This record gives sequence, C-alpha cells and structure tokens, in this order.
Amino acid sequence: SGRWARAMAILREFEDKCGTSLGKLRQVADAMTVEMHAGLASEGGSKLKMLISFVDNLPSGDEHGLFYALDLGGTNFRVLRVQLGGREQRVIKQEFVEVSIPQPLMVGCSDDLFDFIAAELAKFVATEGDGFHLAPGRQRELGFTFSFPVKQASIASGTLLNWTKGFSIEDAVGQDVVAELTKAIERKGVDMRVAALVNDTIGTLAGGRYFNNDVVAAVILGTGTNAAYVERAHAIPKWHGLLPKSGEMVINMEWGNFRSSHLPLTEYDHSLDLESLNVGDQIFEKIISGMYLGDIVRRVLLKMAEDAAFFGDIVPAKLRIPFVLRTPEMSAMHHDTSSDLRVVGAKLKDILGVTNTSLNTRRAVFEVCNIVARRGARLSAAGIYGILKKLGRDIVKEGEKQQKTVIAMDGGLFEHYKKFSQCLEDSLKELLGDEAAESVIVEHANDGSGIGAALLAASHSQYP
Ligand code: ADP
Ligand code: MG
Repeated sequence: SGRWARAMAILREFEDKCGTSLGKLRQVADAMTVEMHAGLASEGGSKLKMLISFVDNLPSGDEHGLFYALDLGGTNFRVLRVQLGGREQRVIKQEFVEVSIPQPLMVGCSDDLFDFIAAELAKFVATEGDGFHLAPGRQRELGFTFSFPVKQASIASGTLLNWTKGFSIEDAVGQDVVAELTKAIERKGVDMRVAALVNDTIGTLAGGRYFNNDVVAAVILGTGTNAAYVERAHAIPKWHGLLPKSGEMVINMEWGNFRSSHLPLTEYDHSLDLESLNVGDQIFEKIISGMYLGDIVRRVLLKMAEDAAFFGDIVPAKLRIPFVLRTPEMSAMHHDTSSDLRVVGAKLKDILGVTNTSLNTRRAVFEVCNIVARRGARLSAAGIYGILKKLGRDIVKEGEKQQKTVIAMDGGLFEHYKKFSQCLEDSLKELLGDEAAESVIVEHANDGSGIGAALLAASHSQYP
C-alpha cells in the first residue's frame, strides 16, 4: 500500500543518512586526532576540552590501606570502600552500595544534591565492619569520581564547567565540586577528606592499569560517553606547569562534546539536540550514548507514524513523550531472536500501547534499532581509532617488538548492549586491519572506576 511504501521510504532515507562507511569512519577518526591536537595546544582551542587531570602517575600496585570512593555521574551513584593490601595482597576486600538519584535533585540546587550524597555516604560509613581497618590516628580518605566536565586546579579541586546527561543545577556551575562535597560531608558530621577528584574515565584508566600494565586509554559508554588516555607531558603545549617526573599526564578528553562535519547527522538528531537541556553541546554523545539512542529510535518511529500512518490511523499518544523508549528497551527489541519478533511486539504494546502489530511492522522497528545502534557503535570505534592514531599505536612498526595496547571499557551501554559492543569491536578491527588488530585489545573493566578512584585517593593520601 501507499502508506507502507511511504514508511519504508522514511526508513531507507534514515538508513542512508546514518551511513558509516569505512571511508567515513576514517574521516571521523582523523577529525578526532586533529581536534585532540587542537585541544592540547590551547585552552578553548577545540570542542574537545582535553582536560588536564593532574594524574601523572597511574597506580603502581603498592597502594595499601582503607579508602573510600564515591561515583556520581548518571542516574545512579555508588559509594564504595576498599581495603588495599599492597603488591602481594592487592584488593583484600571491597563493598559498595548503589543509590538512584531522585530526578528532582538532578535539576534542583547544589546543596540539596550534595546533602543527599553526603547522607548516603554517612550511612555507608556507619556500616564499616570486619575486614576494614583504618590505621590509628588517621582520617578516612575518599576518591570522588565526578563524571562531568571539570577544570581542575589540582588533584583535589576543580570547578564545574557545565552539566551534561540531563543534569542542570545552575548554582553549582563554576563552583569547586570538592569544596561543595566537603561542606556537605561536614554538615553530616563525617570525618573524611576528599583526596582525589577524578572523572570516571580517569578512574577506569587507573583501575584498568592496576590490573593490566598495557592499559593506555579508557572509554565510557553508559548514560553518556567519554574517553581518557595517557599523554606525554611535553606534547601538551597548553600545560605551563612543571613537567611531571613520570613525563606523563592523563588527559580527560570530554569526547562527548566532539563534533565534526563528517558525523552522519539526521533531522532526528537535530531535533533531539534542540529539545535537550544542553543545546548545541555533546553532539557526539547525543548520537552514541545510552541516554539518547532509544529516543532517536522513538523520533524515527514518530515520523513514520505521523507521515505514513505506520501504527495505523491514529498516532500512538505515548510515542510523543520524550524518552519513553529507553535504550535498555531498544536493546531488548534489537536482541529479539524469536521468529515472530514477539519481544518487539510486547515492547511496542507495553511502552507505546500499540497492539496487534504485523510481523512486517515489527521487522521495521527492529531495523530502526539496528541502524541507530550500528551508527553509534561504529562512530565509537572511529573515536577509539583516532586515539590510537594520536598515540601512534594504530600501525605495527617494522622491526619493533610487538607492544600490546589495551583500552579499558566500561558503562552500562557497553556492558549490556551486546550487539552494540560486538559491532564496536568488529568495526575497530576493520579500521585497524588484521595485523594491527592483533595487538589492540578492548577489555571490559567492570566498575574499574570505583576502585580506580580509591587507588588515586591512596596515591594522593595526606599520609606519606
Ligand atoms: P552511568 O553512565 O549513569 O554512570 P552506567 O555505566 O551504569 O551508568 O550506564 C547506565 C546506562 O547504560 C543507562 O542509562 C542505559 O542507557 C545503559 N544501559 C543499561 N542497561 C542497558 C541494557 N540492557 N541495554 C542497553 N543499554 C543499557
Ligand atoms: Mg558511571
């Protein structure tokens, strides 16, 4: 029928605009490398902030003692404690709790958010039991993972540049988030010092390196997306401080804010951006990460419903609600292996209230999920390839001993959306070629960031 043909035309046009040929991915990777150079050259020199983390030494393995970590960066936050036993015993014991952040706190005021966090921290500290030992006379120390763009002034201070991922707390912007947390901790009467402020990518990199010496970069694919890597300090022109003894500096790329004319963007991406809390920002993040993928699918389906009566004469009302279709739901539909796509059918009913879908309709919905996930995964691979190029680890050097390169990956999207992570790994291999691909390993660092932040608190402890 005419309607079906129109719906298919919308679908095909969308697929076409989302194209990520190998040539396109190479252009994106090259643009990423160029922006990395620009961001390192001068403050504000690029959309990539290339933030200096003040971490010039990654964990050695000698860290020991009791340390806490707090991870704030998405819809949940975690509090963790770990007893480190040095080179021999490593991680002796760890415990954590995860708490979801009430949505109003994400768009309220600074004190309310930090008071909530400090209250959960206080409760957690109160449950410290067997197997955890604070050396006598010592204050508890904490690594604070804060996964938003921060301009650091030292390892334990930094001002918030802007919010991302659906957070919008005006009075916190421009504030030192360590000072804000410290005040809230004091208000709760907890005796604890914030020893390190780290981005989750930095935490993942530190945690990854602790377990594997070949880790040189970390990538997060969760609610948002970001990457960090180890740079040579003399390759950072904008750094005017003393060169660290190690000769290295970890850089928080804030790659979610990457944008390039080579990115395959569609009308749906433009409208998603325009209706977001941070218009014009985080364009890479908005086509790659877990917060947005489901909503891109929703927007395409809405267009098909409005212009081609894809779900029948009436446009399902729920389809107009932003973010009703979440990425885990999209992922469930995309992983439906039943011959009649019954998971897709059930999700369409539960989420959109659409009953009695035909198999062809379900197939088309599956296809939209596939297009959106594939574009995100392949662009993520291109970003990683850009980092490898910057590090000179994208090619096998003639006559050199084969050096392994490990990328520590974390985040709910990478962990749970298997078709996404598989496509990412396949695309990276495609970009590297068989030979170079042998030396590059993408490794899932399961909650490396919590341990990583605790390790960085240990190496920046006030007790030498
Ligand atoms: P955060 O990024 O908020 O710190 P996580 O790394 O745990 O937290 O990632 C959570 C995000 O991962 C969710 O917002 C969601 O987008 C994505 N996610 C979680 N589970 C799944 C799933 N089963 N399939 C696809 N995406 C998922
Ligand atoms: Mg996280």
